[in-house]
Formats: sequence, C-alpha cells, structure tokens
Amino acid sequence: MKDNWGIVGHEWAVASLQRHIHDDRLHHAYLLAGPAGIGKRTLAMAFIKAALCEKRAGCGECRPCKLVEHQNHPDLLIVKPAVSGERIKTEKILVDRIRDELIVPITRKPVESRHRVGFIPNFEAANENAANAFLKTLEEPPDYALLALTTNDPESLLPTIRSRCEVFFLRPLPIAAIRDTLVQRRGATTERGDLLARLSGGRVGWAMNALSDDGHLLERREQRLEELAQLLSSSRAVRFAYAEALARDRESMRETLDLWLGWWRDVMLTASGGGVPPINNDHWAAVQAAAEKIGLDATAQTVESIQRTISLLPRNINARLALEVLLLDLPRI
Ligand SMILES: [Zn+2]
Repeated sequence: MKDNWGIVGHEWAVASLQRHIHDDRLHHAYLLAGPAGIGKRTLAMAFIKAALCEKRAGCGECRPCKLVEHQNHPDLLIVKPAVSGERIKTEKILVDRIRDELIVPITRKPVESRHRVGFIPNFEAANENAANAFLKTLEEPPDYALLALTTNDPESLLPTIRSRCEVFFLRPLPIAAIRDTLVQRRGATTERGDLLARLSGGRVGWAMNALSDDGHLLERREQRLEELAQLLSSSRAVRFAYAEALARDRESMRETLDLWLGWWRDVMLTASGGGVPPINNDHWAAVQAAAEKIGLDATAQTVESIQRTISLLPRNINARLALEVLLLDLPRI
C-alpha cells in the first residue's frame, strides 16, 4: 500500500480506511470531521482515489487515479459549496443542487468502477431541506454507492445523518510535523515554516494555504494584531464599530479570531508563569507587556470569550452578537 497515501499526518485514519478498502468491506458512508484546514478534504480525496484505483491503492498511475486527481472521473459526483480563490464561502447548498448533482445521478449504475462515489465537502453548508433529501439516499443507498462527507461542525448535522456514517474525527498535528512538511516538501525557509506551523494550531491544510498565500496572511496578521492593540485602548463606540465591520465578512472574522486567540493564549500562558513556547514569539515584548498589565483572570476570560465566538461561527447563530460582547468586554489598557 502506498505510504500514508502521501498525506501528512492522520496515519490512524489512513490505516483504517486502507483496511476497509483492502478487505473489501467499505461502509456506504464516511464522515470526516475536524477544524477547518486540518486536511479533511485532502484525506477524503485520497480515500476516494484509492477506492476507485485499479490496484485499490491510490497508485496515482492508473486511469481511474488520474481521473480522480483531475476530478473528472465519470463515477465521481462532487457537490461543492461556492468557492472563491482558496477560501470556501459559507454559501448554502440547496436541495435542488444536491438532488441534481448527487441524489439522482447516484441511482445510475457505475460507468467503469466498482463504486459510484458521492462526495460533499463542507456538508454543514447544506441547508435543512438539502440535508433531509440527502438523508433518504443515506438510508437506502444503492449497493455500489460510496458516500463521503466532510464537516467542520459535526454537532450541526442531523443526528440521523451522523449515525449512518462511519465517522473519523481528525485532530491537530504536532507543530514539528507541520514545520518539517513546509520546509522539506514546500521549500519554506525554516523561519517562515516555523512561524506558520505555530500559527496553524496543528492544521496542516491551513499552513499550506498560508504558505502559498505569498505572505498575505502574515501581512494580515500584522494588521490584525495592530488593530487588537489599538482596540485595547479604544472607546466602546470604536469597539462596537469595529465589531460591526468585522462581522460583515465571515472569513475575515474567523481568521481574525484565530489570530487573536493565539495571541491571547500566549498572554495567558505568560501570565500564568508558563514556560510553554509562545506561538507569537516574534511579538514577545507585546505579549509580556500585556500579561503584566492585564493579569491572568481577565486574560483567561478573553480566551474563553474568543473560543465561544469561534464556536458559534459555523452555525451563524448570534456570531455577531458574541463578537460585540467579546469586543466590548476586552480588557482595557
Ligand atoms: Zn491507481
């Protein structure tokens, strides 16, 4: 079998999926869950490639493998949310699309493979009608059907959908593994590889995107940390206006909260006497100053408040309200 399907990390999941394929005991449906950028889609595509491969290995050489790589395989149906650039927008997948692009075509026999595969990345983007329609396919799939879903918000899925899938929760990878990948496979300098690995929080896909982003993410990070520093000494009115503007763009909001969370964690660990290496060690002086002025309790509350706001993002519930509360409650320097 090919070495971990060429994937970085998640070895346990790859090994398990390889066994299912090798032993010819595939389930009808698989759900890969985990934070955005952790590698769910990459793993799902490697799994699909191996399942359709002539050697059942994802060899990368046979015709089915090449067709899957180009997302051109006649037995592969993919229903994607709208994408702009590298970023996935949170546009909803509606019932008409899921019916036309998956539910109906999956009832036709495979053209050239053992399976006909339906893949829906970011299944949390499916609205309720779409999810309910899909549930019927999940309940009575054709024998040859292989369904794969990914989600960064498994809690938001109908329990009946989750329970019919073989679920894999992908976890963050060690920072060192991500750094080595960026440096050895992607030619990053050690310094940049190290910084992005620490900022990634163990999400390898995020780190690779950030690297190919040509430094834009690092520029945005400088800007967001600068804005945070200013907000700490700003009035309620300024903070409120900032929250309102940031809430308009869901992707910027997530990215900003991620960056802030890393920074506040550093402040918290420093305030608690830490000894843990900081994520933002290129902002070490500011982290130390904030730890001294703000103290452990208020910092810990801020970390919690940011985490709560992030957890509300995928569900679109009161994320804006949570962001306003977060900003108004930020410690004052
Ligand atoms: Zn192959």
